Amino acid sequence: MKVLDLQCAHGHGFEGWFASSEAFESQLAAGLVECPICSDTAITKLLSAPRLNLSGATAPAPATPAVDSPEARWMRAMREVMAKTEDVGERFADEARKMHYGETEERGIRGQASPEQAEALREEGIPFVALPVPAALKENTH
Ligand SMILES: [Zn+2]
Repeated sequence: MKVLDLQCAHGHGFEGWFASSEAFESQLAAGLVECPICSDTAITKLLSAPRLNLSGATAPAPATPAVDSPEARWMRAMREVMAKTEDVGERFADEARKMHYGETEERGIRGQASPEQAEALREEGIPFVALPVPAALKENTH
């Protein structure tokens, strides 16, 4: 099986599964490959990218130089998280719960939770991630 990244003339991207590249070429030539969105048969094959299993990721991660240290990558990831989330501090558990039950708008938040609060959230099935925040970044937020 070959999974190809395809695109129609209208810019709709989709995946096509073919027995081989040759099978794709012949089906394409016969006009049998069509866009699932608009049925266009002017299909082009995109350069196949390495498949990353990042469920939930909305944008590809920026290319990282090979010389990057794990610490540098971690700091950058943390900075990104901090830039995209609202610091709700001690109210973290309350805010997470309100969002879970639809009492407040969904957004990215971060803050502190005691082990008891974290346990309670877990029991209620409220998703959250516990991250050890580097002290250097923590100081910048206050
Ligand atoms: Zn299309």
